[in-house]
Amino acid sequence: MIHLENVTKTYATTDGPVHALSGVTLDVAPGEFVAVRGPSGCGKSTLLMITGAMATPSSGRVGVAGENVLAMSGAARARLRAEKIGFVFQMFHLLPYLTVLENVVAAAVSGREAAAKRRGRELLERFQLGPRLRHRPAELSTGERQRVAVARALVNQPRLILADEPTGNLDPDSASAVLDLLADFHCQGGTVLLVTHQEAAAERAQRTISLREGGIVSG
Ligand code: ADP
Repeated sequence: MIHLENVTKTYATTDGPVHALSGVTLDVAPGEFVAVRGPSGCGKSTLLMITGAMATPSSGRVGVAGENVLAMSGAARARLRAEKIGFVFQMFHLLPYLTVLENVVAAAVSGREAAAKRRGRELLERFQLGPRLRHRPAELSTGERQRVAVARALVNQPRLILADEPTGNLDPDSASAVLDLLADFHCQGGTVLLVTHQEAAAERAQRTISLREGGIVSG
């Protein structure tokens, strides 16, 4: 599902180049649940963004869902992201002026809005958010907001979820509920790449990869 080969990423900054990734090779099979751990600044988010076709590496090869990402046009990458990948972020990134259901439907692949509305409602009801469909994110607890974000990630029935510290802002019970949703997706055959600092979150994965200074040190 994911094939990274010798991936490097160097950011040009006013203080000179920053080597965020230095030759990362990683394969994640379809249906695997993999955690990525490592200290702040070691390149975890960069790795996730490159895997999600949201950032371009400086060198290397990137395969996702059988596609050679670096050979694709911008439009084709956008389609890959929308159709095959769900994203969940630490800060939720919900649109504040849309309702819960509208936030989920806004992620729908173009032309599939009606199906997304049905599926979004179903997911939100399953995630105990049925009474909240018309609420705005500010009216929800952080745990509820993240469950909305997971529903948004699932609305297009992706094959892969990329989650960047999805429980970093949650209390333990809410974190556990969000991890349960990722685990359910995995049980149904989905692939999960989860960046986390938290032991309890990493324990949900089948395999843990440790990054240090832009390189994989174990896993
Ligand atoms: P992590 O997610 O493990 O905290 P990141 O992937 O965010 O690590 O960052 C890896 C390194 O790249 C850090 O040194 C960070 O400061 C640097 N970095 C990340 N994004 C940028 C950027 N857009 N421009 C310059 N440097 C960046």
